Amino acid sequence: MDHIAEKLQPILRTIEHRNAGEVEFHQAAREVLESLGRVIERHPQYSDEALIERICEPERQIIFRVPWIDDKNQVQINRGFRVQFNSALGPYKGGLRFHPSVNVGIIKFLGFEQTFKNALTGMPIGGGKGGSDFDPKGKSDREVMRFCQSFMIELHRHIGEYVDVPAGDIGVGAREIGFMFGMFKRLNNRYEAGVLTGKALSYGGSRARKEATGFGTVYFVQSMLERRNTGFDGKRCVVSGSGNVAIYAMEKIMAFGGKVIACSDSGGYIVDEAGIDLDLVKQIKETRRGRIAEYVDLKGGAARFVKGGSIWDVPCEIALPCATQNELGAAAAKTLIENGVIAVAEGANMPCMPQAVQIFQAAGVLFAPGKAANAGGVATSALEMQQNASRDSWSFDKTEKKLAEIMYGIHEICHETAEEYGAPDNYVLGANIAGFVRVAEAMDAMGII
Ligand code: NDP
Repeated sequence: MDHIAEKLQPILRTIEHRNAGEVEFHQAAREVLESLGRVIERHPQYSDEALIERICEPERQIIFRVPWIDDKNQVQINRGFRVQFNSALGPYKGGLRFHPSVNVGIIKFLGFEQTFKNALTGMPIGGGKGGSDFDPKGKSDREVMRFCQSFMIELHRHIGEYVDVPAGDIGVGAREIGFMFGMFKRLNNRYEAGVLTGKALSYGGSRARKEATGFGTVYFVQSMLERRNTGFDGKRCVVSGSGNVAIYAMEKIMAFGGKVIACSDSGGYIVDEAGIDLDLVKQIKETRRGRIAEYVDLKGGAARFVKGGSIWDVPCEIALPCATQNELGAAAAKTLIENGVIAVAEGANMPCMPQAVQIFQAAGVLFAPGKAANAGGVATSALEMQQNASRDSWSFDKTEKKLAEIMYGIHEICHETAEEYGAPDNYVLGANIAGFVRVAEAMDAMGII
């Protein structure tokens, strides 16, 4: 990993000052700035025209009150966010996160990452992110519906198929997208299918969207492994989380012949040396919205549950953090390396802390950053927008084939860019530079905007 070039240091200081206390945003910006020193040496116009400064400042930030009524007839208040980061390449595009930890700094880091990720897909989508500190856990369907409707009563003014197209993220799946789409439709008196992605198939969703982020991450890992003349066959894999990304990452690993032996939720992790029974995980998590601990009683055998603790203590060759930001630190990285890990890919956004990334790279572990490895979700959202625009609905195979091509393409551009800039195998640098250059070129062509 590079240090931040002297010329770029004032930019980071401004970001830290202007966005005081938003530590996740500082962390994401620092990581990108570390990669850009090499770019401004070759393209001084980017620094002369203050392109980096402009890219680091969101175009618009919206914060709003979300009042709703719970099942006890009590009024509840949450805070809603939408950060419209960059629209140089297309309408803002990025998910909505509902989790009690959400604040403006987290949304800003996610929107910043999203801008480069979306650029890497090569599709016409800008970057944005949003959400709320609302916790859907333990809420009834009706409570979730009332919250989503109230959230959309404000958000609808700021979105549209040519303006900003939200999707799901942590705590936001097809149920929540359905409630929000229904309210958007009423408020606008318009069937604008392309205003949200992650919709159910019955009203304009795309096949393979639910699977796309997890599948895409595994396609990316497969490309990295191929470069080292190996594959998933028989390899021990550990996947953190047991939500949307984790479940479909596990499914594709298994399809490629890998063996997933552990997964988790925020309560702890399960280890099943016989190989995780994915149908059971889906039953617990997707059908019943239950806890991963239940797996052990239902499965029996040698499966065990470890409350709290670190899933990264489980020895494996391939590790996919697919839960949340900063879930894998330096100590975990060292343990993974001692236990023989050969590849780590971020299914989640920024799950590895900067020191962990450094440790992986120094040890020669293949490391795929989230903005490249988990871009399959948003890429398939863009495919959903294409289908909506042409009033078409593609087969699962066709959609998955396009997803696979996009992921192989992202791998190629990250790999080639890293080589071109003198850092072979450094996918972090490759992704940051390739994503940045696409956005910067478009902005440069549009004048000072
Ligand atoms: P889900 O809500 O479906 O699942 C999240 C999983 O992570 C759950 O198992 C959850 O456990 C766990 N988790 C969440 N927060 C924490 C925490 N603070 N500590 C420990 N575990 C936690 O979300 P997704 O699978 O959609 O998203 C996972 C990650 O992938 C996020 O970083 C998201 O930004 C990223 N991502 C998602 C995309 C998508 O298409 N969905 C696209 C690209 C990236 P519990 O249920 O106990 O909270």
